[in-house]
Amino acid sequence: MPVPVLKIALPLPLPRLFDYRAPAGVGAVPGDVGRRVRVPFGPRELVGVVAATGPADGEAPALREALAWLDPEPLLHGELLASAQWLARYLHAPLGEVLSTALPAALRRGEPVPDTAVHAWVLTAAGQGAVDGLRQGGRPRRLAESIRGAAVSEDLLDDLVEGWRPAARSLEARGLAQRVVLDGPAQAGGAPALMGHAPNAEQAAALEALRTAEGFAPVLLEGVTGSGKTEVYLQAIAGRCLAQGLQALVLVPEIGLTPQMLARFRARLGVPVHALHSGLSDGERARSWAAAWRGEAQVIVGTRSAVFAPLPRPGLIVVDEEHDGSYKQQDGIRYHARDVALVRARALGVPVVLGSATPSLETLHNARAGRYAHLQLRSRAGDAKPPRVRVHDVRKRPLQAGLSEELLVAVRTALDGGGQVLVFKNRRGYAPVLLCHDCGWSAACPRCSTAEHPVPMTVHAGGRRLQCHHCGSRRPVPMACPDCASLALQPQGVGTERIEELLAARFGDVPVLRIDSASTRRRDGLARELAKLGDGPGILVGTQMLAKGHDLPKLVLVCVVGIDEGLFSADFRASEKLAQLLIQVSGRAGRAARPGEVLLQTHHPEHPLLQVLVGGGYRAFADAELGQREAAGFPPFAHMAMLRAEAQQAGQPEAFLQAAAAACVAARDRLPAAQARALMVSGPVPAPMPRRAGMHRAQLVLSSPGRPGLHAVLGAVIAGLHALPEARRVRWSLDVDPVDL
Ligand code: ADP
Ligand code: ZN
Ligand code: ZN
Repeated sequence: MPVPVLKIALPLPLPRLFDYRAPAGVGAVPGDVGRRVRVPFGPRELVGVVAATGPADGEAPALREALAWLDPEPLLHGELLASAQWLARYLHAPLGEVLSTALPAALRRGEPVPDTAVHAWVLTAAGQGAVDGLRQGGRPRRLAESIRGAAVSEDLLDDLVEGWRPAARSLEARGLAQRVVLDGPAQAGGAPALMGHAPNAEQAAALEALRTAEGFAPVLLEGVTGSGKTEVYLQAIAGRCLAQGLQALVLVPEIGLTPQMLARFRARLGVPVHALHSGLSDGERARSWAAAWRGEAQVIVGTRSAVFAPLPRPGLIVVDEEHDGSYKQQDGIRYHARDVALVRARALGVPVVLGSATPSLETLHNARAGRYAHLQLRSRAGDAKPPRVRVHDVRKRPLQAGLSEELLVAVRTALDGGGQVLVFKNRRGYAPVLLCHDCGWSAACPRCSTAEHPVPMTVHAGGRRLQCHHCGSRRPVPMACPDCASLALQPQGVGTERIEELLAARFGDVPVLRIDSASTRRRDGLARELAKLGDGPGILVGTQMLAKGHDLPKLVLVCVVGIDEGLFSADFRASEKLAQLLIQVSGRAGRAARPGEVLLQTHHPEHPLLQVLVGGGYRAFADAELGQREAAGFPPFAHMAMLRAEAQQAGQPEAFLQAAAAACVAARDRLPAAQARALMVSGPVPAPMPRRAGMHRAQLVLSSPGRPGLHAVLGAVIAGLHALPEARRVRWSLDVDPVDL
């Protein structure tokens, strides 16, 4: 009998496991599966995860020995490892890369699983006497007052005292405060659970369905913004999970995870809520993950990658705003968190709730086919009224910074009534193009443009800077036209900066705030910005950053301008995205007692998308759109995979994709005739942006009415693609179920 060896998944772009002898000359045992181990790899050391044990593939004595175990017991085992293996097969990606995506960075690097004791802060005896001596209103003083009576957990301090950590360290250094460990997780939340609202009839029906669900049960919870979906999540978590000591995992979109939302969960559930998102430090993320792994974290709320949180005592998974684009990872392992959530819920045997006001067409299609239960919340909860939507035809009307006089009057009226106004424009910067009025030259990004496909640089900083939104390159606006030396360089078109400039000039009596990705990149950035608006009248200008997130009870008017570009996009998903965006932005209006209004300014009032959406709502749109997708053979009626390639040198991406296409066609021809006929290999063609950041880019699309044929072809070709000589000259990737074509 040969000695069993470790089959290790390593974070390398190679679709295979690697054999090693177990450390210290001990034979591998099945119980090693799921343990992290450090191994030599060429001159380097890597951290891998044992995926299997068994006889070595080659000559055992020649194998290298693993250096050291990192975990005394398996870290990834049972369901989580099985789901990662499923995902690796589905995405045709190396298991090692999937696992390293699933682990928080600190664990990926090989650090030990952190201590998850709940830490809290309390004043020392010296501190008790010194509080009144601290500067009034300063952070140390506010912190000291919060922790004067009893120890307060760090979670809770995040909500109570903004930026408390440096203050805590300074109090600690002076011997005034100390960090202590709370005994049981139950103590850590501090606040008792607040009472929820008595559910209305539709909420009650949804809760009943979730209460009685047994095993895997996917549920689409469709309800407009403000219809009380979050309330359903909260009560389902309280009833189904907390009452029975089970865990709940709640996924939210990247910009949906506001401090407000976390505070609502903490206040209402009365247990610690563990956050998992990119705004946390590596250490904080590893701690939340470890708390989930130990079963201590009862409620985990996080963005995309939180879908990999371990759930040893699973009770419920929620995917809020399931249609949101941020659930799809766009580089590396290109998973879709909603789909992974479904796979995990099935493996764990728990219900999974997909919530949205604007469900993705994939999800609606599954609900219609009876694969998901479909629950609806048709009205707004409490006494909130739905907003009134008005399509505002601006053809032939004079515009200032892209805004019509009627729109500006409506803004004035809303402000005079004490309300707040949101102006939504899906382009950041001052103007999308800088044009020479004398010769027609326009500023194009040198790193992203080709002769046939120039990519304009956006004018920023009130007209002083040019910036490329695709590669980030920046330069000053030239003094004169580089082609004809004319001084007649003019910003063309309108971005949010220009709208802000006009509104600030016209409505000088109220705050005008522009929100973009730069102002909200910092943790709590959006909340901090919005706080500047206060309770009084004011105007927010922004891009889709403002489509959701923070509650704005004073918002009475939403102006949507410049959506016309989106009406005529070539991407077959553009209509869906635009419809979702319009409904989501509109949903921001009138969340409190007063009804809101939405003004949709357009040059194409008769466009079918707007007609259907305004006349019949999202469902009417979705019905029409699904019909068109079916007729055209697009997802969800077909399944796609996309191979992308890029290289410094033009032609090389195409050469690689040509070879890939030939391999796919050959594999297709080996399929049973019926499957083979329906599978299409299209391309290679230039990418929608044929060049970006200096790289030439091309793509190849595979499409098939059924998944089995598609996956059979991918499975047959993928290892060979890694070995193609052309592959060495490009960067390539496979995207299964691509979202952006
Ligand atoms: P959604 O998640 O669908 O946007 P929320 O759950 O946030 O909706 O609810 C919107 C508002 O209505 C919140 O302020 C919430 O407290 C309130 N609400 C929810 N359910 C009820 C109810 N049954 N009765 C009264 N108010 C409710
Ligand atoms: Zn010129
Ligand atoms: Zn560029």
